[in-house]
Amino acid sequence: MKASPEAQRRLLDLQAIDTTLAQLAHKRRSLPELAEIDTVSRELSALEDERVRAQVAVDDLDRDITRFEKDIEQVRLRKERDKTRLDAGGALREIEGLQHELATLNRRQSELEDAELELMEKRETAEATLNEVRSRLDAASGRRAAAEQRRDEVLADIAKEEEFKSSSRGPLAADLPADLVALYDKIRLESGLGAALFRSGRCGGCRIELYGADLNRVKAAAADDVVRCEECRRIMVRTAESGL
Ligand SMILES: [Zn+2]
Repeated sequence: MKASPEAQRRLLDLQAIDTTLAQLAHKRRSLPELAEIDTVSRELSALEDERVRAQVAVDDLDRDITRFEKDIEQVRLRKERDKTRLDAGGALREIEGLQHELATLNRRQSELEDAELELMEKRETAEATLNEVRSRLDAASGRRAAAEQRRDEVLADIAKEEEFKSSSRGPLAADLPADLVALYDKIRLESGLGAALFRSGRCGGCRIELYGADLNRVKAAAADDVVRCEECRRIMVRTAESGL
């Protein structure tokens, strides 16, 4: 293939743009924020499970406490009824029976209240656990939101830089011979690098040093010959810096 030395030299400008674009694409894929968001998301999911368990524990205790309160209320109503009947007076046997029942009800109420108090203490502990999990959830949510914001900022910067680079790539590639760009693109898509400067006897792509006949082949090539590396097949661009 033939191409003017100037077109070959400008292939290096095109390669510089493509290298920057590839670096930007890599940067986008490997942002530390992405790993951080991933880690915090897993943490959030585990914390959410923990929160549900803590909430269930509180709800269960609330249900038990409500049941005890109903029982206590029933005992209280029964006591009131007994007291009213006692105040109304009546036969001795009936009064003794009511007094006996009142004593039993008092013991029952006291037992229920003790048990309820114990549940309320348990509920306090369960609620403290729930609040602690909630605050850890809030903190992790905050960390994720901050990482997402940083990610979005970096992505916006990358997009801006890509747009800038891409806008200069179009006209440059359009200005070069189509067959040269097609060859360059084919090699570049395989290895990331389509053309590299030949300097100090080395291919700028794979860094292999040429000697003897191989070096003479490059030296003997016409200025408009498109010379390719025998090793990596990349276009070796010769300029004034090549030292030939
Ligand atoms: Zn090479």
